[in-house]
Amino acid sequence: MEQHVNDIMTIIKRMRKTISKESSKKLDLNKCERVVQRLESFSASCVEYEQYQVKLKDHLIQLEANVDEMNTDFNQHKKVIQCIVSHLQKEHKLVPEGMYLTLYMSIGMSLGMVFGFTVFDNLTLGLPIGMSMGIAIGAGLDADAKKKGNTI
Ligand SMILES: [Zn+2]
Repeated sequence: MEQHVNDIMTIIKRMRKTISKESSKKLDLNKCERVVQRLESFSASCVEYEQYQVKLKDHLIQLEANVDEMNTDFNQHKKVIQCIVSHLQKEHKLVPEGMYLTLYMSIGMSLGMVFGFTVFDNLTLGLPIGMSMGIAIGAGLDADAKKKGNTI
């Protein structure tokens, strides 16, 4: 099983050097690598672990062969990665990086608007206060999740 991880990492490393910058950006190889590493950290407890590894490896082999051609299907790539990401989120309780920030910022903004309206009778006053509070809380939770190794 470890062989798959090594193979995948080797392909990613090789692609970094060989493919065009544009393709590299579209493929988001950093994320790809993080997903592989996160998946690997559940190798002992995940029943579908090997299945996902093989799927990703097969996909990358195909991709590497065609990546700089006009008909490269980047959506297919995103789908494969997303499929593993949602498994990690659902089954292993991981969160995407920066998720809490986005979440709490929008909660803070809505609360700020409500408070601004009801308490200060001023919608525009509550909004930035709520937003900055939401950002502070969200960033804290993001940092915490990252420290615990719970982010993808
Ligand atoms: Zn799993």
